[in-house]
Amino acid sequence: MHLQADPLLFGVIGYPLTHSLSPFLHNRVFKYLNLNAFYGRFETLDIRSALAGMRALNIKGFSITIPFKQTVLPLVDQLDPIARRAGAINTLLNKGKRLVGFNTDVLGAMMAIKEVMDPKGASCLIIGAGGTATAIARALKERGCQISITNRTREKGLALAESVGGRFFSERDLTGHNFDLVVQATPLGMFPNTDSWPLDPCSIKASLAMDVVYNPMKTKFLSGCEAMGSKIISGYKMFLYQAALQLRLFLGIDPPIHLMEKIILEALDESDGNSSKE
Ligand code: NAP
Repeated sequence: MHLQADPLLFGVIGYPLTHSLSPFLHNRVFKYLNLNAFYGRFETLDIRSALAGMRALNIKGFSITIPFKQTVLPLVDQLDPIARRAGAINTLLNKGKRLVGFNTDVLGAMMAIKEVMDPKGASCLIIGAGGTATAIARALKERGCQISITNRTREKGLALAESVGGRFFSERDLTGHNFDLVVQATPLGMFPNTDSWPLDPCSIKASLAMDVVYNPMKTKFLSGCEAMGSKIISGYKMFLYQAALQLRLFLGIDPPIHLMEKIILEALDESDGNSSKE
C-alpha cells in the first residue's frame, strides 16, 4: 500500500471534470513511485472556497482547469513569469499558505508542436480566446509566429488578436485562407460531447492541426483536418508534457515520462472517448 496516514494532497479543480484523466494519471504515478500522496478530483464552480480549502487543509498543489485558468489570476499571492506572460494559470502550489501560480500548458503545447514543426515564422490560427488559447497564442507569438484568432464571442477574439498583434477572423471569413498551424483551443469535441466541433475543417487549409482536447485522442475536428490533408497532433501530447512539468513542480522530481505516456495511452485507448478512469 503506497497510501498511509497524512498523505501529500493534490487535485484538479474546475467544472466539468468528467473528461479529466489527471487523477488517474497522477495517482498511478504516485503508486509507481511508492509515494504517500493522493490526487483528487474536485469539481466546483466556487474557486474562492476551493482556494480557501487549499490553504486550510494544506493541499500542496492543484491543477487548474476550465473555467478558472484566467479567473484565478487575481486570487493568488505570487505568479511565475511564464504564467504572467501567458495570462493564465494551470498549476497552483501551496507554499506555506502562499499560493503561487504557474503555467505548464505553455511549454507542454510548445513541446508537442516542436516534435512536428519548428513554429518560428509560421502562420498560426488559434480557435478560441479562453485561458488555453491565450497562453498558446502568446507563446507562439514569442516564438516568432504570425497569429490569427477566431472565436465564438467576437469581442474576446478581437481583444486577444489585438494583444498579440494578430488578426481576427469570423468563421465565414476564414474560407480560402491557408495556415501552417491551426490549434483548436476550445472544449468542443471533448467527451461526452464528442460530436461537436468549433468550425468546419473544410473552411480552412492547415499543414498541421493540433487539438487541445485529449479525450477522445482523435477528435472529430482532427479527423476532419486529417481528411483535408493536414498532419495532426493529438491533445494527449500536450496533456502528457504539461502533466510531466506539473509533476516536477509538485514533487521536485524528474517525471517518469515514458511511464506517463503509457498510462495515458492505455487509458484513452481503453476508454475510446469514454469517461475518465476514476
Ligand atoms: P476557457 O478559458 O473557458 O475558454 C473556452 C473557450 O472555448 C472560449 O474561447 C469559448 O468561447 C470557447 N467555447 C466554449 N464553448 C463553446 C461553444 N459551445 N462554441 C464555441 N466556442 C466555445 O477554457 P480553457 O481553460 O481555455 O480550456 C479549453 C479546453 O482546453 C478544455 O477542453 C481543456 O480541457 C483543454 N485543455 C487541454 C490541455 C491539454 O493538456 N491537452 C491543457 C489545457 C486545456 P467564448 O469566448 O465565446 O466563451
